[in-house]
Amino acid sequence: MKNIDKINSWNFYTKRLLFLFFLQTIFIAPVVAQNYDLTEIISIENSHINREKIKYLHLDLLMEKGGRIYIVADSEVMSELNGQSIPFILETHDFSPDNQLDISIQGGANGDFHSYVELERDLLDLENTFPDLAKVYDIGDSLENRNIYALKISDNVLSDEDEAETLFLGCHHAREWISVEVPFLLGKYLLENYHQDVFIQNLVDQSEIWIVPLVNPDGLEYSIHFYRYWRKNRRDNGDGTYGVDLNRNYGYQWGYDNNGSSPNTNSDVYRGTAPFSEPESLAIRDFSAQHHFSSLVSYHSYSQVILYPWGYTSLPTDQDVLLNVLAANMSQRMQTVNGRYYSFGQGSGSLYTTNGDTTDWSFGTYGIPSFTLELPPSSAQLGEFFNAEGDIQPIFQENLQAALYLIEWAAQNKSLPKDSIDNILRRHRSKITNTLKK
Ligand SMILES: [Zn+2]
Repeated sequence: MKNIDKINSWNFYTKRLLFLFFLQTIFIAPVVAQNYDLTEIISIENSHINREKIKYLHLDLLMEKGGRIYIVADSEVMSELNGQSIPFILETHDFSPDNQLDISIQGGANGDFHSYVELERDLLDLENTFPDLAKVYDIGDSLENRNIYALKISDNVLSDEDEAETLFLGCHHAREWISVEVPFLLGKYLLENYHQDVFIQNLVDQSEIWIVPLVNPDGLEYSIHFYRYWRKNRRDNGDGTYGVDLNRNYGYQWGYDNNGSSPNTNSDVYRGTAPFSEPESLAIRDFSAQHHFSSLVSYHSYSQVILYPWGYTSLPTDQDVLLNVLAANMSQRMQTVNGRYYSFGQGSGSLYTTNGDTTDWSFGTYGIPSFTLELPPSSAQLGEFFNAEGDIQPIFQENLQAALYLIEWAAQNKSLPKDSIDNILRRHRSKITNTLKK
């Protein structure tokens, strides 16, 4: 998600206080924290009726767990729920600092979404189950020494063959939990269907598919255990603030201006002290240098759009036609699955520019088709960074079609002479309009 400052300025400070100073907020708030409403965590039953009712209430949804939806609520929210006849339970006591250990032992408050440890286990499970097709690599360590994992999928997986390589990245931004699930499930799907599905088998045989589902493991863990809306990594900026926005820390046109990223350490789009100052973005840079990727997708949420370079300027790239056609075809295929429409267009064509992001860097450095895929929902009103557990599969299924298309394109592109691709693109171009809303 590109534009977080507007969503987050109020939420950020209230909720950080809420999580870090929970008991103080609750018990001392009437005296000390006059500027903040008394805030609680409550839960409601996760029923269809309740989900429909709360859609329009602008709630701060925390998570789903055990058949209940958890919400950050002040007195106004509670009276709104009362007005809608939605019963709720106070859950604040379960989130006190004293209980953090219990939550860790139980595997976190992340429900069906992966934590770092759960992802590590599931990736290694895939490698063990499909030793001929899957291999897990540790491509670098995070600031807090967690491993950044890459899953490789190919026939003859242990050898580096001359095949089209496609890279899928997830979770640069900690709170975008769905962006871990989509690339992970892509890997799982390719492996589980290889022997049953000739199309998948051909695709995998001709390709090397690389999946890094969790670029920001420290941030994700922080989001799960302490503060659901955390976005950046966990860099101690030395001035009382934490975190660098990893998707503003890449080295192409880094810090181009202060609109597309921020020099301020407390900003949610703080770009860091230098290009690739962070070990997590550095790991992706060094990993990419060891390969010849033909295309790249970096998953984010939310907005339901497919963005391509440039993000830092409104000028088009010299590959604008190609990027536009690929995005249009991905969008079209995705819509056939659940009817959900993904807008598409140049990154800077939306409301805000972005500098130092992954896709400007991969395109600017390697000239490869590069896409930021902002997963559903399409708007804040529909849940912003919160995706229901039941939506993981539908969102994955539609994104699977886009991913297969791009893998197939990369494989064909490798075997086709350049001029015939250009001719194909020219024929397609006339049918396609850029539909990204301004
Ligand atoms: Zn994001």
